[in-house]
Amino acid sequence: MSAQLIDGKVVAKAVKEEVRSRVEALKARGIRPGLATVLVGDDPASHVYVRNKQRTCEELGMHSVGHNLPATTSQVDVLALIDRLNRDPAIHGILVQLPLPKPLRSEPILYAVSPDKDVDGLHPVNVGKLMMGEPRFVPCTPAGIMAMLDYYKLPIEGKTAVVVGRSNLVGKPVAMLLLHRHATVTICHSKTPDLAEVCRRADILVAAVGKARFIRGEMVKEGAVVIDVGINRQPDGKLVGDVDFEAVAAKASWITPVPGGVGPMTIAMLMQNTMLAASTT
Ligand code: NDP
Repeated sequence: MSAQLIDGKVVAKAVKEEVRSRVEALKARGIRPGLATVLVGDDPASHVYVRNKQRTCEELGMHSVGHNLPATTSQVDVLALIDRLNRDPAIHGILVQLPLPKPLRSEPILYAVSPDKDVDGLHPVNVGKLMMGEPRFVPCTPAGIMAMLDYYKLPIEGKTAVVVGRSNLVGKPVAMLLLHRHATVTICHSKTPDLAEVCRRADILVAAVGKARFIRGEMVKEGAVVIDVGINRQPDGKLVGDVDFEAVAAKASWITPVPGGVGPMTIAMLMQNTMLAASTT
């Protein structure tokens, strides 16, 4: 392997230490940041994610309140809970764990979260602010990607960035963040012709596709920085990313592993957003 590792665990630890010390300062002013998690249904992976978020809150001196609702909960009842949390002064951030079980519709629920407590950065007001270059709450995974690039001082300005994937959660916001930092950005998706050729232009390649080992060695330029967002569980239980790690690491200059790359950053940035939400109350 020639690429150097971008270690998400190291960067996440640094972000969390910073959050911890700012939480201490807030507590000295009588403010204890609080995160409410809203989990509907019994998806085991979602339960693990939410527990990790709550545990990390407590580790950093924030408090978290979990609302675990049965899968049969109605849209009206979820909206009523969001309304209560919006008005609760002890709650600074509200996280609705996705995906929501059918027949719940996630958009009206996400849009009901107050933009001031939208620590996942998915409310249209925060999406719009990001678009205008005045970000407030940025979705956690894209924010984590930027924090990793900055931690390792990897240059962004003037670079050619290619983002594979255009989801509202990852692809579009990370493309916007790279653009604001003066990269020249191309966003690719399932209808992009000659994907390999587009990817080979990238100095910074972000893969957010959701397909195991989708980015192959021949799709990557020598010396590229490769960020693998994907989390794909293999039949043997192993987690692999969207990047064929061995082949790509032989060409890249820097690469994130899976696990231990982007994954740990997502929770760290959620903590940062919750602390920021509490700072501005
Ligand atoms: P989505 O399924 O919402 O989006 C996937 C994107 O990939 C779509 O834009 C889709 O294009 C594109 N795509 C699919 N097939 C191809 C193809 N053959 N060629 C080019 N583009 C393609 O996924 P997410 O953005 O939510 O997540 C992506 C991955 O990141 C998943 O593995 C997910 O588990 C992981 N993830 C990891 C997180 C972390 O904390 N590390 C957090 C969030 C996600 P189109 O729009 O045309 O359909």
